[in-house]
Amino acid sequence: MSFQVFGLPVSRGVAIGRAVLVASSRVDVAHYFIDETQVVSEIDRLRAARDAVASELGTLQRDMPAEAPAELSPLLDVHLMLLHDETLTGATKHWIRERHYNAEWALSAQLEVLARQFDEMEDEYLRERKADLEQVVERLLRAMARGVALTGLPTPAVRDFGGEDPLVLVANDIAPADMLQFKRSVFTGFITDVGGKTSHTAIVARSLDIPAVVGAREASRLIRQDDWVVIDGDVGIVVVDPSPIVLEEYRFRQRQSELERARLSRLRHTPAVTLDGERIELLVNIEQPADAIAALEAGAVGVGLFRSEFMFMNRAGELPGEDEQFEAYRAAAEAMKGLPVTIRTVDVGADKPLDRMSINELRHEHAQNPALGLRAIRWSLSEPAMFRQQLRAILRASAYGKVRLLVPMLAHLSEIRLTLEALARAEQQLTDARRPFKQIEIGAMIEVPAAALILPVFLRHFDFVSLGTNDLIQYTLAIDRADEAVAHLYDPWHPAVLQLIARTIAQARAMQKGVNVCGEMAGDTEFTELLLAMGLRSFSMHPSQIAAVKQLILRADTRRLAARLPAVLGSDEPSLTSSEILGPPVSAKTNTPR
Ligand code: PEP
Ligand code: MG
Repeated sequence: MSFQVFGLPVSRGVAIGRAVLVASSRVDVAHYFIDETQVVSEIDRLRAARDAVASELGTLQRDMPAEAPAELSPLLDVHLMLLHDETLTGATKHWIRERHYNAEWALSAQLEVLARQFDEMEDEYLRERKADLEQVVERLLRAMARGVALTGLPTPAVRDFGGEDPLVLVANDIAPADMLQFKRSVFTGFITDVGGKTSHTAIVARSLDIPAVVGAREASRLIRQDDWVVIDGDVGIVVVDPSPIVLEEYRFRQRQSELERARLSRLRHTPAVTLDGERIELLVNIEQPADAIAALEAGAVGVGLFRSEFMFMNRAGELPGEDEQFEAYRAAAEAMKGLPVTIRTVDVGADKPLDRMSINELRHEHAQNPALGLRAIRWSLSEPAMFRQQLRAILRASAYGKVRLLVPMLAHLSEIRLTLEALARAEQQLTDARRPFKQIEIGAMIEVPAAALILPVFLRHFDFVSLGTNDLIQYTLAIDRADEAVAHLYDPWHPAVLQLIARTIAQARAMQKGVNVCGEMAGDTEFTELLLAMGLRSFSMHPSQIAAVKQLILRADTRRLAARLPAVLGSDEPSLTSSEILGPPVSAKTNTPR
């Protein structure tokens, strides 16, 4: 039966495919596709885990102390029975053979299927057996995890998958680093139950440029493995099991948006110059050096934000060393062929944990508020050796291109001083070791209201500033950017937010310092004219957003826009409608898919 689920639109376009449910499990489960040649060994791993658990349960039963409760032994019998039941192991093999899921993923997918069947049972006793099934699966997953450690299998990677139907991913939540793993994957769309528009999971989805809906609350409970699903990433609707007419309508829209993209991509090599001759710098945000290719293809003139933290995630506590980091930064610098590459020092914490952890797990494990905790520069300064190591790696890469350094989340003068001292020490260490490096430009992210309010202090110490509007909005409005429950209050149009942004741009320009926006606002066509009106001349965004933003720039007259800015800033309720005073009606301004 067809039904709809509503969420937040975070990445434009329409995706149609079969649902692949990534179950949330108490055990950390890696999800990746295997090659055809690995099917047998993957099934062997499953079998070995089953044998190990059977002997574990047998030992438990044999060694049961006399004083143990009488129910325990029959319970272990139930577990053994479930363990050998074909509906668990047989069907799990099916996911491995037919879908090429790795064994852990296949097992958790089958758990999801069976758990629903248990939920629907009339008989209460049988319904409660779901918990037993979960325990058995958990034992199997743990046994497999031990096996992985013993046999030293390679780190999971997403492989090409030879299936026929397009696939969309449905999950309660996906950690940002896991999302990144799906970068070269087969999924044509994403749906998650939790998350806000600028949560890092949403940001990575946007960088993949495939339709996504987050904050869809019950989606992973309502949608079943293999259901046909339409994701409307423009408005945030998910249609499950669509009727043929609905499907046809969406296929039509899919074709339209592909045509529109093809049309826009022709602007790739057109210089971004406004009608009144203002040259606008369009840069990209990247998560890994390989993204530089997409940056150049999109016609970007540099990297405005390299989120280096993705290199630090999911490494089981082992952080990348100086040489590994240096190689990555050098690769990005060389790939950009002399264009600027702005490397941001590690910004972990908040919704970007070092280990594979979803937002929900984070919230439960750390009762404190992670967004206000030891994140970004605060973490770097608390780990001085690690911080200097990163600074040395970035400095060394400067010998191979135009590298710039960007520091996240600064708020205090003391943090500025400590950062600059760390940099000076890193430079000295490289000089002593006779390692080549250049003098590089240093920038500060303005993403805490405190920083925006004392901007002249920052401008005295840095060559440029970069507005991290995602966090600036979060901290100005006290709205967790990753929490779908308050997503309706996460309002970039709030006058306080606009005033902070406008002031920052104006003050930086007055002191002849570079200023840039690298938050999601920069790539959102709703804000292009407003930011131009404020005097912004440098934008950094996902490569896929460049063409649509450029189209607006080519039609803009910055003098006319600037003259109308006071009316927007003076409004009690600025909005997209009020921004129409900046230009022609929105519908006439752009017909680009958003
Ligand atoms: C921002 O906060 O706007 C930003 C660009 O940094 P991040 O999204 O990585 O926190
Ligand atoms: Mg930020």
